[in-house]
Amino acid sequence: MTEEPGQMPDRKKRATGAAEMARGLIAPVEEEIIDLLQVLVRTDSVSVPPDGHEADAQQALHQALRSHDIESELYDTDFLEKSGHPLVRTQRHYAGRPNLIARIPGTGGGKSLLFSGHIDTVTAPGKWSVDPFSGEIREGRLYGRGAWDMKGGIAAHFGVLMALQKAGMRLAGDVLGESVVDEEWAGGGGTLAARLRGITADASVITECTNLEVLRASRGGYFFDIIARAGDPSAYFTKDEVVSPAIPMGRILAWVDQWQKRRRGIETGQVYKDFSDPAPVQVLALEANRFDPGTPWSTPTEAKLRLYFQYLPHEDVPGEIRMLRQSFDEFCANDPFFKRFTPEWRALVEEPLLGHELPADHPFTECLAAAADAALGEKTPVTASEWPCDAFINQREFGIPTLLLGPRGAGAHNVDEYVEVDSVIATSCVLLTAAILWCGVDS
Ligand SMILES: [Zn+2]
Repeated sequence: MTEEPGQMPDRKKRATGAAEMARGLIAPVEEEIIDLLQVLVRTDSVSVPPDGHEADAQQALHQALRSHDIESELYDTDFLEKSGHPLVRTQRHYAGRPNLIARIPGTGGGKSLLFSGHIDTVTAPGKWSVDPFSGEIREGRLYGRGAWDMKGGIAAHFGVLMALQKAGMRLAGDVLGESVVDEEWAGGGGTLAARLRGITADASVITECTNLEVLRASRGGYFFDIIARAGDPSAYFTKDEVVSPAIPMGRILAWVDQWQKRRRGIETGQVYKDFSDPAPVQVLALEANRFDPGTPWSTPTEAKLRLYFQYLPHEDVPGEIRMLRQSFDEFCANDPFFKRFTPEWRALVEEPLLGHELPADHPFTECLAAAADAALGEKTPVTASEWPCDAFINQREFGIPTLLLGPRGAGAHNVDEYVEVDSVIATSCVLLTAAILWCGVDS
């Protein structure tokens, strides 16, 4: 896209005006946004497949919105199980796991904007220095499981709705806020349910933890286990020697290592070109026998490997996975041990996650980047995520141009997760600025 002379300062001026308006509207609800965040962090929504435990947090959010005179709707997602959509995780249970949707209707004629986030979190193992469900604030950081991933983003985006409602202000287009279930563990079920229900918009922002950067692309992901079994446990203390896959497993790791090197050399495309490892290959778990004091010192007859391959937005993920599988089959056919004891290959979810990418010159990318620049008062990086998320469902499956922007923090999926309180408010300001620019204001 080429800029007409004089157009840029004009656009910048518009963004500056919108950011000023947004700051004025967010200021009266700042405390309420952080209160909401604290309530959400204190409400356990840890979800481990096949089940989810999001209902309490969705109820708490529903109540909080009601106290701001914002109507929201909780709806069941268990229709997913019967929907027959290819992205449904058929092994998971969705009964009792509601999504939430709220809307500030526009006055008409403007484009609509959807803010979306997942309320489920991973577990909180390990030694935390604070109670992971305390929502304790120390030196400007609010701690807790899900504080950054991604209750901070959820509080920030519902803060936009609270600000508009409090001011009695309507934009020209609708502003929608949603909180969905089942995103972690490669779920996607909540977002899929929302789109299948027909909730849509002219653009969406998923308020994942992006450190206030605009992310216009995300990676896909494939999770699978390789399980090598050998020998016969009953052979112990008999005349037969024990056969174990533990040492041969090292050769599978060498196969993984080769793939990691190979993936480092792939064509990255523009948005991932500066990433040191644009398409990572990771070992998530490795197990043969346990180190617990009570485990007998015996040779394992089973060894397991959990692998995670990420894929770039332009890649044909199913085709890449077929190639990977073929390479593994060839490796096994040529290995003296695995030729005899064929390992099991077990995908952790049926369909892989896909990446997504919105062009740098897409009007919505330009809108959110301008909003971030104006609201944050500095040039905001426009880049790509180092992880998969639900963006591909919105954009690739349902045609909604989608970007990611959320607060600063650290410790996602680890101990001592926190979100920076100021950045939650800053996120609200950016999102409201974008809404004003995208949805329009009646003059
Ligand atoms: Zn997340």
